[in-house]
Amino acid sequence: MRRITILGATGSIGQSTIDLIARNPDAYVIEALTGGHSVETLARDAIRLNAKCAVTAHADRLQDLRAALSGTGIAAAAGPAALIEAADRPADWVMSAIVGAAGLAPGLAALKRGATLALANKESLVCAGPLVMAEAARSGARLLPVDSEHSAVFQALLGEKMESVERVILTASGGAFRDWPLADLARATPEQAATHPNWSMGQRITVDSASMFNKALEVIEAHEYFGISPDRIEVLVHPESLVHALVGHVDGAILAHLGAPDMRHAIGYALHWPDRCDLPVARLDLAEIATLNFRRPEMARYPALEIAQRVMQRGGLSGAVMNAAKEVALDAFLDRRIGFTDMVPLVSRVLDRLDRDSGALDAEWCLEHVLAADQMARSYASEALGAAAGAEQK
Ligand code: NAD
Ligand code: MG
Repeated sequence: MRRITILGATGSIGQSTIDLIARNPDAYVIEALTGGHSVETLARDAIRLNAKCAVTAHADRLQDLRAALSGTGIAAAAGPAALIEAADRPADWVMSAIVGAAGLAPGLAALKRGATLALANKESLVCAGPLVMAEAARSGARLLPVDSEHSAVFQALLGEKMESVERVILTASGGAFRDWPLADLARATPEQAATHPNWSMGQRITVDSASMFNKALEVIEAHEYFGISPDRIEVLVHPESLVHALVGHVDGAILAHLGAPDMRHAIGYALHWPDRCDLPVARLDLAEIATLNFRRPEMARYPALEIAQRVMQRGGLSGAVMNAAKEVALDAFLDRRIGFTDMVPLVSRVLDRLDRDSGALDAEWCLEHVLAADQMARSYASEALGAAAGAEQK
């Protein structure tokens, strides 16, 4: 019996993880499930999987969670400290599927005690790559990538030596606006941005796919996880989303990972690693598919990719700053306070400002410093938004 905890159980990745686990419930003991506002889903799954405890991130939802679990014997808790306690419970395998920087501290808590961490929360590596990797090395914890591209690279690297790797190519669908005229992007709405051509995912990552911020985060994630230098990580637009990543070697060979666009592959791979098990994902019929297309991303359409380069060159806490500013920009876009094309300039401005703040990005690596940089970036981003709104009213 394997003991499992799912952080972010009510989201898209969390629900796909539960889908796999629920197919073989006798193989797992569920230590904890965590979620946000949707306590009904959280309670339903906690009961269905006989979890020992369920935690909502929001203290004001505790009463509702308690009510939904009453009489079941399942413990209920709420708030950020309870999320860390959930990660601290003695699960062997923890899925890190909270969205945003909020996933960092609970994931680190699981790594600290040596659990295997299946990492969907790419923000952990973007904000605190060196800290996360050092913690895993110190405790001996296994960190397994769940982002489909990184799982693909991980699989393509099996049995290979890192010294022979010349380049890593991450593919991107190009998002909702891949084929829009550039002039129309400024008027794109949140609803339009939240439709993905191939993948079904949470709202935030879907909009990040349209802006390419998702790929920008993933390039940094690949840099941190695999230790590959920025100049050897490429992005290709691949509209079919069937080749998830490619690894090029010094002898000219390129190993590609293909599969249906279904996150249950990467999740199931991390769940069963180092074995491969039968998974309920579609099998590709390549003769039916017949053609696969690739093209270089246009920088005018996807300026977020340049931000990733800037962050990797700058290093230090700039990843935490970029991610926090991006989260604020995304909220502002979703609330219709700024346009789609205003997100990158906002993130860029926050990076400029923190770059000028002497030492702000060069603090020593520890969770408090990462969270402080995150907070500072959020307040600078909010300030910049306020100033822009004020100027507009005048
Ligand atoms: P989602 O929005 O569908 O779900 C997010 C989960 O996090 C929910 O359980 C929500 O309740 C919880 N949550 C939200 N804010 C929280 C907070 N402040 N504190 C604690 N919990 C909070 O997101 P998703 O699409 O499942 O993505 C989850 C993570 O996985 C993200 O980091 C995303 O980038 C990554 N990822 C997702 C996919 C995908 O296909 N959905 C693919 C690759 C990577
Ligand atoms: Mg991905």
